[in-house]
Amino acid sequence: MTTSASSLTAHEREVLAGVPTDLLINGQWRPATGNGTVGVEDPATGLELARVADATPQDAMAALDAAHAGQAAMAELSPRQRSTILQRAADLITEHTEELALLMTLELGKPLAESRGEVAYGASFFWWFSGEAVRFKGEFKQSADGAGRTLVSRQPVGPSLFITPWNFPLAMGARKLAPAIAAGCTSIVKPAKLTPLTMLKLGQLLQEAGLPDGALNIITAASAGSTTGPLIEDRRLKKLSFTGSTEVGQKLVEAAAPNLLRVSMELGGNAPLIVFDDADLDVAVEGAYQAKMRNGGEACTSANRILVQSGIADAFIERFTAKMAAVKVGRGTEEGVGLGSMVDQDQVDKIAELVDDATAKGAKVACGGTRVGTTGHFYAATVLTDVPDDARLLQEEIFGPVAPIRVFEEESAAVDEANATEYGLIAYVFTQDLARGHRVAAALESGMVGLNRGVISSADAPFGGVKHSGYGREGGAEGIEEYLETKYLSMPA
Ligand code: NAP
Repeated sequence: MTTSASSLTAHEREVLAGVPTDLLINGQWRPATGNGTVGVEDPATGLELARVADATPQDAMAALDAAHAGQAAMAELSPRQRSTILQRAADLITEHTEELALLMTLELGKPLAESRGEVAYGASFFWWFSGEAVRFKGEFKQSADGAGRTLVSRQPVGPSLFITPWNFPLAMGARKLAPAIAAGCTSIVKPAKLTPLTMLKLGQLLQEAGLPDGALNIITAASAGSTTGPLIEDRRLKKLSFTGSTEVGQKLVEAAAPNLLRVSMELGGNAPLIVFDDADLDVAVEGAYQAKMRNGGEACTSANRILVQSGIADAFIERFTAKMAAVKVGRGTEEGVGLGSMVDQDQVDKIAELVDDATAKGAKVACGGTRVGTTGHFYAATVLTDVPDDARLLQEEIFGPVAPIRVFEEESAAVDEANATEYGLIAYVFTQDLARGHRVAAALESGMVGLNRGVISSADAPFGGVKHSGYGREGGAEGIEEYLETKYLSMPA
């Protein structure tokens, strides 16, 4: 563990000073009614980074007024105009990589190199949907009975509410905003209270990219439920896209039902990662490390259960444990740090609770297994072996740098165990036998499978889950569908 900063550097203060901390409503930044604010903390040091507006339900309603009023103008922009705004947004995000990455590292805790990667990933959604904005199609055809003509056209769904989690402060918003803009929808974004600064900076850049007033509104708030609840009940809202925990997602689906809102749910995961005897060991170790340690394990795609076939188990465990044990832990701004702070103390307590439960039931600690330091919220990169069936971390999202390893004999046993979870977001398979790779991928109950790859998210592919990991897709040709209605016009032949 390296030293933690006891105060912000001049450069950090300068970048923080460039972040708008008010609410973005109808193209204007303004304080919350009553001037309430909520603090944002650096989880590595406990230092307060900024205070952002604490929106009231009235402020949220003003954001919906703006999104509703701005919808017609947004829909009237030509596809090419929307495409140009998106391309400018991608360029601006890329130009501001260093500021955005630093903000993300400061408020979330992950290493700067990873934050830069998230900026590039977020920008890639604006780039991808700048292309999709001019490509989505309708249909004109003869009716089946030959007596008529059918015109099928696509229209924007309308004002959309986006509620995003803290773990990818830029990308989770970008994956919703870019297709919504491409389709011609206005939006209201409610970022997580732990990490709102990156989204506020993104909002400033999107305005600079040329979004009309009212097209994007951002509300930050201490109380998510009371702020967004009235919006979900309002008939003018047409769409809710949520990324976060399954528990909150279920509540939101229920709240959205009376209004029959179109809903997309990107929820929790419990990813299995299967390593077969015939895997390339180097590829499997590297892939497992990336799948586990990206975002410090605070990712819905994080490998939660590593299942290794007996013939390769000893070699894999030795190599993987050595790699995990070597990771440098520290504040994400420090050179060479591979594992930053967890987002808050609750997160560390939950990780420690799950590890303690597993070890109390018989799991062995191959490395880590402890909190690190006394300042900030750090937990060591941890490998657990001999994890028993009843360990809670096999069923619950760990959301931290902890890798439980289990050994299996038969392919069918690995598939059964991989599927023995309520979640179905992503799974990983490592094998050099392509037939086996395809067979196992088909049998896995998940929306996505990585074959010999530990990181698969990409703007050009449909990201999303099945089972309790939710529904809807972000990215790919499918991503824009979440924001389009289908209208059919019938006419005589
Ligand atoms: P969370 O607690 O569900 O919160 C997500 C967002 O919902 C935050 O903005 C939160 O606001 C808000 N929220 C909480 N309660 C609400 C309510 N009653 N009504 C309206 N909004 C409410 O999740 P998290 O801890 O931030 O994120 C981690 C979870 O997200 C994990 O389960 C992870 O797997 C999942 N995730 C899924 C994906 C995916 O694509 N499938 C991607 C990333 C993360 P506050 O911040 O104010 O609490």
